Amino acid sequence: MKYIVLPILLLCCMACAETQEVANRPPPPPPTMPTPPIVTSPPPAPDFSSVKPRNIILMIGDGMGLPQITMGMYSLGDSTSLEKFPVVGLHKSHSADDLVTDSAAGATAFSAGVKTYNGAIGVDIDTQAVKTILESCEEAGMNTGMVATSVITHATPGSFAAHVKSRQLYEDIALDFLDADVDVLIGGGKKHFDRREDERNLLEEFADLGYTIADFVKQPLASWNTDGADKLLYLTADGNPLPRSQGRDYLPAAASLAINHLDAKEEAFFLMIEGSQIDWGGHANNRDYIISEFEEYNAVIADVLEWAKADGETLVVVTADHETGGLAINPGSTRDSIVAAFTTPKHSATMIPVFAYGPGSENFAGIYQNTAIYHKMMALLAL
Ligand code: MG
Ligand code: ZN
Repeated sequence: MKYIVLPILLLCCMACAETQEVANRPPPPPPTMPTPPIVTSPPPAPDFSSVKPRNIILMIGDGMGLPQITMGMYSLGDSTSLEKFPVVGLHKSHSADDLVTDSAAGATAFSAGVKTYNGAIGVDIDTQAVKTILESCEEAGMNTGMVATSVITHATPGSFAAHVKSRQLYEDIALDFLDADVDVLIGGGKKHFDRREDERNLLEEFADLGYTIADFVKQPLASWNTDGADKLLYLTADGNPLPRSQGRDYLPAAASLAINHLDAKEEAFFLMIEGSQIDWGGHANNRDYIISEFEEYNAVIADVLEWAKADGETLVVVTADHETGGLAINPGSTRDSIVAAFTTPKHSATMIPVFAYGPGSENFAGIYQNTAIYHKMMALLAL
């Protein structure tokens, strides 16, 4: 008998222990999204039969998702310059390691056609430099430019002309710009050029490379005489420029200066114009900040579109790297007073609209990866 009882008791205790253990175990984690696939291989380059553009102007409204556009549109009396674009598409904004991209990975997808990790500036998932469309244009003898309402060394412009493993390395990004030979650079971040840890004065080094240089302290941008100048570097603030609502107003003048300067040259050009702070309004979950930044960017888009219509040889592509804030336009909204709700102070993973005008624009219809924007532009330039 005892030979039978003992095993039964033992089994009982083991079962008890097992039950106890189950009770003490933390609850299973809620089901999570599977890790997003790491997309590294670019799609084959499209073979376009359409007319090829001579110039490309890529406009990136940072954090300008569909809700931001919608809110801005209603605030402007149910009208936006984006309605004048004949071709609309959607891109999938995710990065290599996260469904929610950051601006560095998002811009590197546009600039180099690779999905990379969040924080990567012009490098792939192995931190290897990837050649950007701006660099390819320079190599092919075209001229290039970048305009931003953040520091010019910020993630978005940085990803077009620098190759560093982290977006925080502003001074390294400025250093990479020395080699990039960009013909027009306008944005904030003077301190990353002339008050650096390595004590180099990049403003002097840019001047040695033939740049004509000015900044917000000595020379208002709107009255800057650039006649006869070759390459331009204008720094609009020591650090990040102010929000528009606090007095920043240079973007329309900067965009027009960049276009006129590049257009006056014999060669074709590639220009990137960023509305950087729509994103910051989203991070702040601040409706009025987003609307104010969108209004200005919308006006610049209208100017660029008008110029491109007269030019006839320029492809204009307007998009965003991602949405910011998980913005919703809630019930109770009117055109005069949007009831904005936010789901996050961070970015979201929603698909992002793409608007295109000009030669080759028809290729931007449909739904595709953010990296396809690079491949479409490159195929159209046929460098
Ligand atoms: Mg940006
Ligand atoms: Zn952001």
